[in-house]
Amino acid sequence: MAAGAPDDGGDMLDCGVLSIHLNALCDNYQHMKTLSKTAETACVVKADAYGLCLAEVAPALQQAGCNSFFVAQTQEALDLRALLPDVTIYVLNGLPDGAAALFAEHQLRPCLISQHQMRQWQGFCQQQEIPNPAALFVDTGFNRLGLGATDLADLAATPEIFDGWTLSLIASHLACADDADNPMNRAQLERFKDALAQLPEAPASLANSGGVFLGDAYLFDMTRVGIALYGGAHSGQADDALQTVVRLYAPLLQTRALSLGETVGYGATFTAPHEMQIGLVAVGYGDGLSRNYGDTIGGRSYVYIDAQPAPIVGRISMDSLAIDLTDFATLPPIGSAVEVFGQHQQIDTMAASGKTISYELLTSLGTRYKRKWTT
Ligand SMILES: *Cc1c(COP(=O)(O)O)cnc(C)c1O
Repeated sequence: MAAGAPDDGGDMLDCGVLSIHLNALCDNYQHMKTLSKTAETACVVKADAYGLCLAEVAPALQQAGCNSFFVAQTQEALDLRALLPDVTIYVLNGLPDGAAALFAEHQLRPCLISQHQMRQWQGFCQQQEIPNPAALFVDTGFNRLGLGATDLADLAATPEIFDGWTLSLIASHLACADDADNPMNRAQLERFKDALAQLPEAPASLANSGGVFLGDAYLFDMTRVGIALYGGAHSGQADDALQTVVRLYAPLLQTRALSLGETVGYGATFTAPHEMQIGLVAVGYGDGLSRNYGDTIGGRSYVYIDAQPAPIVGRISMDSLAIDLTDFATLPPIGSAVEVFGQHQQIDTMAASGKTISYELLTSLGTRYKRKWTT
């Protein structure tokens, strides 16, 4: 069994094991909290906590001291509310038509993205005579969700739209926070400050994980950190202080010797350039490892057995992939734990080799792994 691999041999029969280290998650939260200085550090747990299981991750983060959470969808918010009755929950996708009563009942705060949604929330709150809190989400150049410049001018002309409910947060999102030198960051910062100047006084939030690393000017009153909690990079380079949270291992199912000229996998895309030893590993695109990994589409990806890298060869199948073991002094035994990412390879390194990002790698992992949460 590879160093750091799940120790219970029974876990590694014929499927991958995803081990999630909750202490490392909480240490990463503390690190981001320190960097956020006086700003509150809210945790982003959308998409089932980036694929790592909301029901495990969110309570651990609350234990670590987090009181405010962001999700994308209403159902995610309801799931989180069932887990954590007392925390503040913001819903990034906004307020669906007719959902105000549901949001208020479960104390969910919509990130209002249009004047229409603001009027819906206001109408409900005035009817109930309860000034429920909600955030305003402002677009500062991303051109994703949020109120634009003309909306802000309209709001300034109709200040009564803020009556009867509580503006608890004004937020915007950075398009290029993972690239510290990108002039877009400063441009969005200035536009956000202009927006704040036009709106009623309220706590403000601009920085995601990457934004926290851009410096104090980006921190405002609240940061919204996601990927850094889960051990992902903020700028293509993992911060050394961030710990590895997720490790993925899959067992070696079979080894085989190839003669010169034999091919591997669907489409016979890989041809042995010499005599080779290959291994078949029990993880495939059915487990979220896209066919972009490996040698067929551009780059080259590696997995690790103990500390030794083994390149993926040929196309990835649904349930397995092939690796080149020719350079191994002794052939690893069947059942050996093959590390896809974790101790020897960061999620960002693996993701980059498949022309994607750690966010997509984590949220694609799917449901077939045996998941283990350890402290
Ligand atoms: C997903 C998301 C975040 C978290 O971003 P990370 O880069 O994962 O830290 C913050 N804010 C908004 C609006 C988001 O959509």
